[in-house]
Amino acid sequence: MSGEAADQAEQDAAFMRRAIELAERAERVPGTSPIGCIIVQDGRVIAEGHNEVDLRHDPTAHAEVVAMRRAGEALGVSQFPGAVLYSTLQPCGMCSMASIWAKIGRIVYGAGRDDVHQMYFEGRDLNTVDFVVDAYRDDFSLTGGVLRRECARLYHQPGEDVPEEEQANI
Ligand SMILES: [Zn+2]
Repeated sequence: MSGEAADQAEQDAAFMRRAIELAERAERVPGTSPIGCIIVQDGRVIAEGHNEVDLRHDPTAHAEVVAMRRAGEALGVSQFPGAVLYSTLQPCGMCSMASIWAKIGRIVYGAGRDDVHQMYFEGRDLNTVDFVVDAYRDDFSLTGGVLRRECARLYHQPGEDVPEEEQANI
């Protein structure tokens, strides 16, 4: 690994740790789910969020959308060129598409489809990677598996018997 790549890996891990903290905080708030997201632009955190779907009765209040709305409100803009979006779980199609609209430059996620129970992805017919490929942008990239095990620990495990009422829109 080159020095620059090592620096980026270290920075990614540090920001992902913050996203994990947000996910853990969400676990203690009724109506939320343990997904954490932060958006970083020019090395600075511009917004944070965790899933608030049941709290707000808003099916689109995924952690990534919550963070994008906050970034927009805080900065008074609707696009964040070159920003990096960190999420503890591989973003769904909605959040990936919203990232493309927001001109986010890079998505970094922790746990992926194979690291967690299938319920998290069964409603997601399209793989996030397809959105990136189809975005027709060469300035958009995606990195998965940052702090994979620490992130996967926030979720039900593959093959686990999860009661219906615990299955949520995240
Ligand atoms: Zn989503």
